[in-house]
Amino acid sequence: RVDILDPAILRPGRFDRKVTVGRPDVQGRKEILEVHAKGKPLGDDVDLMQIAQTTAGFTGADLENLLNEAAIYAAKEDRVFIQQKDIQRSFVKVGIGAEKKSKIVSEKEKRITAYHEAGHAILFHVLPVYSVSIIPTGTGAAGYTMPLPEKDEMVNTKGQMLQDIVVSLGGRVAEELVLDDITTGASQDIKQATAMAKSMVTKFGMSEELGLINYDSDSEEVFVGRDFGHTSRGYGEEVAGKIDREVKRIIDECYQKAKAIIGEHRGVLDACAELLLEKEKITGEEFEALFYE
Ligand code: ZN
Repeated sequence: RVDILDPAILRPGRFDRKVTVGRPDVQGRKEILEVHAKGKPLGDDVDLMQIAQTTAGFTGADLENLLNEAAIYAAKEDRVFIQQKDIQRSFVKVGIGAEKKSKIVSEKEKRITAYHEAGHAILFHVLPVYSVSIIPTGTGAAGYTMPLPEKDEMVNTKGQMLQDIVVSLGGRVAEELVLDDITTGASQDIKQATAMAKSMVTKFGMSEELGLINYDSDSEEVFVGRDFGHTSRGYGEEVAGKIDREVKRIIDECYQKAKAIIGEHRGVLDACAELLLEKEKITGEEFEALFYE
């Protein structure tokens, strides 16, 4: 059972999301608890599934610690078996430690993340969705949505790049639709979308307005900028303004598209978020099924 106790799962994503380490999901936590409950008699009132449900964000080590501490509380009362109240007391102790280390997800945060990821997932619907999860990843990202790559692509088309931008805006769009406030959780998405739109305009000649010119000076500046006293940018204010407007136009159009698609599938958004809150992680098939309910 070593695999279950080691929550580190490498999941390379097509979009190079910074998601490499996953914590155990609710089912994983239940199995870890079962492993560590061996040799520790449990009272009738102990429900490992319920404990698994309330320990989102716990690592395998945190869960082991939880049961060990509970066993100590039981021993202090000269009991040979653990009761639910021992686990509750232990939870306070271990939970605070675990919160410092790994940040336990509050219910509100979980709900926001569930909707955020559901928003991405709906937009991914045109692509096969591999797995949707709201388990904290330990790398700053609260959750992740990942499509299976159709093939190893070295070249992106304009259409694909626009689609990537649409998908990356899905989290924020979903938050706006459902919650009365928006969060900072979409900052990575926005950064990614902006970088993609900017590359389209300045590197790949995908903007009619700017034409087939490379305005991305990062490789040329060493030769041209320094030697001839140009600005490192290599173009004037007018072009800079055009680039900014084109980037904004692309982002705005993708945002409107994301909003329209998610709006059309509002029922799926709610159902997906509900399912994520219940199970924390759903498969591509479970997600696809929501469209046919
Ligand atoms: Zn996101």
